[in-house]
Amino acid sequence: MLTSFGTLYVVATPIGNLQDITLRALHVLKVVDRIAAEDTRHSAQLLKHFSIHKPILSLHEFNERERVLEVINYLENGESIALLSDAGTPLINDPGYRLVREAKAKGMTVVPIPGACALITALSAAGLPTDKFTFEGFLSAKQEARHQQLISLSSETRTMIFYEAPHRLLATLRVMVEVFGGERVATVARELTKLHETISLSNLQTLVNQFEAAPDTLRGEVVILVQGVEKAREEAARVSPDVVLSILLTELPLKQAAALASKITGERKNVLYEMALAMKNK
Ligand code: SAM
Repeated sequence: MLTSFGTLYVVATPIGNLQDITLRALHVLKVVDRIAAEDTRHSAQLLKHFSIHKPILSLHEFNERERVLEVINYLENGESIALLSDAGTPLINDPGYRLVREAKAKGMTVVPIPGACALITALSAAGLPTDKFTFEGFLSAKQEARHQQLISLSSETRTMIFYEAPHRLLATLRVMVEVFGGERVATVARELTKLHETISLSNLQTLVNQFEAAPDTLRGEVVILVQGVEKAREEAARVSPDVVLSILLTELPLKQAAALASKITGERKNVLYEMALAMKNK
């Protein structure tokens, strides 16, 4: 569809290390007519660092509704706009959803310019299962509500990812110990991409002990990742196929033992049959 509308670019920016800006982000920021930023002063600094000078308007949580109309107006007049948040990917726990929704409703082109995002950065180095995960954003600042939110996640099987304010980190980890148990595997990723980056994989109780012993580390930006419940149980309960097979072989003929061990462990039947033959021939 040919329109004279401008394009809305949703541009990810670094979450700490300025070298994480992408070449494409820089190109887009250089060619757009205008920039809509969560915090104009913050983004002005970033743009100055890269010698980019563009008109900037503010679009934050509290003025998004009015600003959407203004930005849509610019787009209707053929201007292209880049949407920026203070750090990382706009819309991910940051403003912009209403703008993107409205632009799409008007048939405008919305182009994502991917880059840093704290939750994905944390997950990529957390050492937790990544096949399925759920992003929970920030838990409530109110203690009771936070407790309830965690209880509602107590049977979650996917890896859970939370953003958290540093001054609430310890309190949140303590409630997590209460709700998920101290043994639950978890990671705290602090100050990602920055000088004092730390990514601690441990269990919840050890993490609590660690932060209690070093209160000076309760600073900076933080992501908490908690392994899901089934994964944790599955891993604890997993018995290796050769152990299962050797037990079954004491009571059953080889073929039957291999078939049953396959059902129990999920290992292929022919692999177990070969294994059983080798055991018998020892
Ligand atoms: N849009 C951002 C993104 O793409 O990740 C998230 C914005 S949200 C308002 C800010 C929260 O993200 C912080 O409180 C923290 O939980 C997390 N965060 C952002 N930068 C981080 C960093 N460098 N290290 C750890 N967590 C970070």
